[in-house]
Amino acid sequence: MPDITLLHNDINARVNVPFKTKTVERQWNIRAAPAVARSRNPIRETLASITATAPSTSASIINLGLGDPTHYPLASPPPAAINAVRAALESERANGYVLGAGTVEARQAVSDYQKRWDGVEYPVDRIVLTHGVGHAIDMIFNILCPHDGQGRANVLLPRPGFSQYSALLGTFGAEIRYYDCIEETDWEVDVDMIDELCDEDTKCLVIINPSNPCGSNYSRDSLKRIVSVAEKNKVPIVADEIYHHMTWDKKFTPLASLSDSVPIMTLSGLSKRFLLPGWRFGWICLHDPLGVAGDIQRGMAAMGSRFMGPSTLTQRALPEILATPGEWFDEVTAKIETNAKIMYEAISTTPGLVTNFPGGALYMLVRIDPVVLPQFTDDVAFSTALYQEEAVFVLPGVCFEAPGYFRVVLGAPAHIMSEVAERMTSFCQRHARRV
Ligand SMILES: *Cc1c(COP(=O)(O)O)cnc(C)c1O
Repeated sequence: MPDITLLHNDINARVNVPFKTKTVERQWNIRAAPAVARSRNPIRETLASITATAPSTSASIINLGLGDPTHYPLASPPPAAINAVRAALESERANGYVLGAGTVEARQAVSDYQKRWDGVEYPVDRIVLTHGVGHAIDMIFNILCPHDGQGRANVLLPRPGFSQYSALLGTFGAEIRYYDCIEETDWEVDVDMIDELCDEDTKCLVIINPSNPCGSNYSRDSLKRIVSVAEKNKVPIVADEIYHHMTWDKKFTPLASLSDSVPIMTLSGLSKRFLLPGWRFGWICLHDPLGVAGDIQRGMAAMGSRFMGPSTLTQRALPEILATPGEWFDEVTAKIETNAKIMYEAISTTPGLVTNFPGGALYMLVRIDPVVLPQFTDDVAFSTALYQEEAVFVLPGVCFEAPGYFRVVLGAPAHIMSEVAERMTSFCQRHARRV
């Protein structure tokens, strides 16, 4: 029996071919998937809008907006890093493909480093090397979160928090639920709120400690409460500890060291503590005391193989880089602490600005008091005017889900921080309402 549709097509084809090719000419119609619009990074966009017009002052532009410690720079990277990569290059033995999760030697170096600094033991097969922590975050979402329309999912993020998380979640079908960090308690986490937000669809809880943008270093007690609430709700934790041990108020507590049940994915890398963000090198270490997160471990192996790991030059150099002595880190941290003191003292005597003394990381989050500075409708207006009049660039809080605040990066040499402090104070004195 002849196929009716084929016959029809045949007839149509014969009749319409010359006609069709003339009128229905194909046009270019390249359209990005909807996820692209949801993957916006507010930091880069805000930077572009604030710096669109040049400052009206002849003073040199000071950029304390971007969290890049190499911008001024704060200090040189560890000498071992430079020497070891040079040796790796000249050895000609770091030029090939390696295991997707990273070479065993490099992962063993991460395991040794995490044990030395955090006191936590991670077997090599629970470690995967990544192209920076950003890639580690994306990898975890790929392991845990469905794509659009493939089931319900939510992820708990801190507010104020680091915007890359929400940008990366844009390509997944997961709802973002923000829990608060509370200014009055030095930006400690609202643990009760986490408890309220968790449900059976919660894929993971993200804890950033020390915090970008708050500069907080959570107390051991509140970290313990976070672990128990995750235990109660049976939710694994992503512990973004890229600033681990960059603290001065009290000792840093690694979250994984407090958990004997909750799976913790600890993230760290070379970008902040080693002052090497451009090398794009990070890692995930899975702490799984009860062995309930086998799926995550298998996911790490599978997802690690998608891009064949970060640069083999850095992988080969890693044992030497990670053996950097404690004194080198102490010097860098002392510089950040000095910067924190300079900014804190200046802001304490500046009308209209309120802040907490930070305990770690590379940042200070400052509140703009609208009663004293009524001229600025919001943090973007404040930051734009500060750039216009004083040539100082800071990021408005909207970039961190913290409208009404701005973030100062403490990663420039002290004399630049003092200059910023002076300009910021005279700016606010000029604009403060007289009482
Ligand atoms: C800078 C930063 C990262 C990104 O690290 P990369 O290794 O450069 O990708 C991740 N998390 C937080 C909280 C950061 O501040």
